[in-house]
Amino acid sequence: MKSFFKRYVFVILSSIVAVALLVLGLYLFNYRTERIVTNVAENFTSEKAESIGKAISNKLSGDLRALNGSLELYESINLKNLAEIKNTLVLSRGVGSFRTIMVATLEGDAVDNDGFFWGNVSSETFFKKAVEGEAYISDLLTIPNYPVDIIVAAFPIMRSNRVAAVCCGVWDRNVFTDILDSSAGQSNSVSFLLTKTGSVLASSDRKANLSSLGDTGYFAVEGDWKTRGSAIPFERTRIFDREETVFFKYNVEGDEKFTVITPVEGFEWVLAVVLPDDAIARELKPMAGYITVLILCIAVSFALVLFAIVMLIRSDLGTVKRNENFALASLQNQIVVFDYDHVKKRLELAGNYDLIVGNRNPVFGDGEERELLNRIHDEDKAVRDMILSAGGQLDTQINAEARILCEDGEYHWFKMKANIVRGLEGRVKGLVGNLTNVDEHFNEAQELKHKAEIDPLTGLLNKGAFSSLVQKKLAEAGEGSVYALYMIDIDNFKNVNDTLGHAIGDKVIADVATKIGLVFSDRDCIGRIGGDEFSVLLLLSPDSRHAGQRIVEDKAYRLCKRMDEVYSDGVNDVHVSLSVGVSSFPQDGETYEELYRRADAALYAAKHSGKNQSCIYRSGAQ
Ligand code: GH3
Ligand code: MG
Repeated sequence: MKSFFKRYVFVILSSIVAVALLVLGLYLFNYRTERIVTNVAENFTSEKAESIGKAISNKLSGDLRALNGSLELYESINLKNLAEIKNTLVLSRGVGSFRTIMVATLEGDAVDNDGFFWGNVSSETFFKKAVEGEAYISDLLTIPNYPVDIIVAAFPIMRSNRVAAVCCGVWDRNVFTDILDSSAGQSNSVSFLLTKTGSVLASSDRKANLSSLGDTGYFAVEGDWKTRGSAIPFERTRIFDREETVFFKYNVEGDEKFTVITPVEGFEWVLAVVLPDDAIARELKPMAGYITVLILCIAVSFALVLFAIVMLIRSDLGTVKRNENFALASLQNQIVVFDYDHVKKRLELAGNYDLIVGNRNPVFGDGEERELLNRIHDEDKAVRDMILSAGGQLDTQINAEARILCEDGEYHWFKMKANIVRGLEGRVKGLVGNLTNVDEHFNEAQELKHKAEIDPLTGLLNKGAFSSLVQKKLAEAGEGSVYALYMIDIDNFKNVNDTLGHAIGDKVIADVATKIGLVFSDRDCIGRIGGDEFSVLLLLSPDSRHAGQRIVEDKAYRLCKRMDEVYSDGVNDVHVSLSVGVSSFPQDGETYEELYRRADAALYAAKHSGKNQSCIYRSGAQ
């Protein structure tokens, strides 16, 4: 049930992530496309605007150069005489693209090359500026009695470094419209030529105009174009009064308009090119299509990656499932499977692991795995080191036995079989294997061993085990070690059996064993080496060398003293005593056989002297 839930949680989560990614992709797609469309629109219209701006600038600069060149016509005439001026002006017909050339006297009376008398223009700004010696281009002007709106380029005519009259090139506003028309032909954009104060000098669409509402305004065109709506706050943004090309996007009743405003080089004018959104959309449609394909590709690749991840998770879940099956199967045979990841320091258990970790989640990391490995008994720490240093192992297999501290607070024996897992380059990745609880086998073996070595009546070592242990201790004896071997025999023991029976006889043997244990310490070796015969190897540390002999004798004395007792079955009393013979290492012998022989000789001497006494072997004395 748990794994079923887990599996579906992964699938559901993956689906949610996939949908989220798709939504994100679509959102990004929309957002990105709009950004790109905007950028392209900017580039498209600004290029167009700049090229029209350049065309106008070139045309007007040419006109001004031509007008300047024509000024020499007036060098030799009387510039106060309007009639004379009028006659000369005829010669300047066709200069540049001017509608007419007009000359005004210093008093302001003006005539043009069509012979039209303008009356007095002294109040006009262009006249005032030119009289002050400045070349000046006017805004759009409406002159009384003149048939069209005009723009005037005024120059001072100099004589002996003084202004003698004013010469004006007069442009019909239509001259700009023509230039705008010729450049605007390619698309349905509308171009406006404006002064930097916002007066429209010309527009490529006769119906187009610049409207303003308070400090906001908009380029309005009739027909296909909407005429009302929100617009650019002209005053606030001072869009005409800039040195560089600027781009504006504004909204007229829900229709997006893109406008580029670019300065006309060399003039105090700007050109605004307005593009409706459908024109931009037309230009960009193929590109948006490509973007769609691209984003779809990205979405599909995302989906593929996701699919791969899901497959990976499923294969992982497969492993979990296999482990669960294994756990079921291993319940019968007490096997714990372990997987130790040497790189991630992660230990995973499967199977019958309850004894070791209880019902905890059997995946251990973040130092928990170390804690678990530390549960291996200190005496078996070689096994722990083997697991931890699997990297250093050249073998491919580990077979070992170790005690592990389990959940019941006891050490249990486990047999471990493990394979070292290596990566492609032979680097150790971890250890996979199993643990089998071998307590049962181990206890049996222990029992057998125990049986072979221990005397069941007294719990002491039997003759064989005692002799092996004594030989081992003697072989390990360091310099200065003081050892003594005691032979202890119960006096007249046959009499105990005969008088009180074998049961009390056995009790006497067990009592003697206990009392011997009280005289000696745990580190001494005590054995029952015959029916009523015991032997002890006393192990004194080198620092008790001086007192050594006295301790040896004292213990022999105390042995006899402790076992000087009367046993009774209620009818008969039997006095039980011990005889003790002692030989010392190394002076009486360095091997067990020698020491045994001499202690036995001393025991014989004790028996011979009347029993219930001890005798210390003295070289040559016996
Ligand atoms: P001695 O003072 O010279 O040692 O005389 P003894 O009677 O003690 O003679 P010995 O040491 O030869 O006798 C040992 C007796 O111990 C022989 C045997 O019947 C008895 N015996 C040996 N093993 C056991 C045992 O496990 N239980 C009992 N109750 N008696 C045992
Ligand atoms: Mg005896």
